[in-house]
Amino acid sequence: MAKDGKVILACSECLSRNYTTNRKKNSQKRLELNKYCPKCGRKTLHKETK
Ligand SMILES: [Zn+2]
Repeated sequence: MAKDGKVILACSECLSRNYTTNRKKNSQKRLELNKYCPKCGRKTLHKETK
């Protein structure tokens, strides 16, 4: 049951894949989180990708 719900969060500016997280079962929306991007050197919007 490990793989279900795993998503990758990618920086919306440089597209680096910086984080992985787990999606909650009932969430249909794409995740969008403000996270620190080491490549950009600041917080940017990170969006769910595959
Ligand atoms: Zn970035």
